[in-house]
Amino acid sequence: MKCKSKTTNGQLCQAQAITGSKYCFTHDPASGAARAKARKKGGRRNRTPHAGNSESIPTKVRTIEDVLAVLDYALAETLPLENSIQRGRLLVALAGAFIEALEAGELEARLTALEQRIKNQNESV
Ligand SMILES: [Zn+2]
Repeated sequence: MKCKSKTTNGQLCQAQAITGSKYCFTHDPASGAARAKARKKGGRRNRTPHAGNSESIPTKVRTIEDVLAVLDYALAETLPLENSIQRGRLLVALAGAFIEALEAGELEARLTALEQRIKNQNESV
């Protein structure tokens, strides 16, 4: 049995009526809740779930450690994505950002050590 409802252009709906109803799934007033549920489910399926823990990101990025936390999060979010050219590019970009942050961190640590050494020398003179 065909659906008794009409489509938006005024023609009779050609969809099959659901069992125990005069209407199809779309037009049956009783299946409104089920429709909403199906829509929600569909929406959830299309969205990529979060893999990284967004709570691990500092609200303000002020140090190399903060930068690394952001990069760790970005990496965790990128890895489970479906393989694509964009994902590949993002991973390469992240690797570059990690190198920059780690180098800056290393430089900072060496500078601090140098400053400490100079300070110690000046004190011992
Ligand atoms: Zn219908």
